[in-house]
Amino acid sequence: MGKKGVEILNLDVKKLIDMLNAALSEEWLAYYQYWIGARIMEGPMRSEIEPELLLHATQELNHAVLVADRIIQLGGTPVLSPMEWPKLARCKYEAPEDSYIEVILEQNLRGERCAIQRYKEIADFTNGIDHNTHAMATTILGEELEHENDIEDFITDIDRMKEELKKVRL
Ligand code: FE
Ligand code: FE
Ligand code: MG
Repeated sequence: MGKKGVEILNLDVKKLIDMLNAALSEEWLAYYQYWIGARIMEGPMRSEIEPELLLHATQELNHAVLVADRIIQLGGTPVLSPMEWPKLARCKYEAPEDSYIEVILEQNLRGERCAIQRYKEIADFTNGIDHNTHAMATTILGEELEHENDIEDFITDIDRMKEELKKVRL
């Protein structure tokens, strides 16, 4: 970013760039979590859930674009190596070793809740100070809230189905 652009920011820019690089690492890990999980998962409602998880994957990648571009504007360097992602990320990658659809959804749900916390913190840190990062963080946060809600709905529907099946057996 231009000198003036950074100069007007009355906050710890280094700390903000660190938060953004953690978020960037988390987005890439979330992308792969969704991308691989959607492909290998097995279980009820697969054909409905798979395209939604792949859409979420694409949205996580778009978040990575926004965050990386903002880091560059702030004069920082976006994380340069995938080897750094797990070190910088607070939201951990969970390899989908069990391919059952509910397990995959629970992993994605934990990721979304972690992402919500991340963008809330970035929004709080920049609120009323760095308007552009704040606007970006709230935009992304809005999508993470949608993601969490979508996954909760899928889990609710699968639970309902299991309950109904139990009744049939009685
Ligand atoms: Fe995201
Ligand atoms: Fe998300
Ligand atoms: Mg969705």
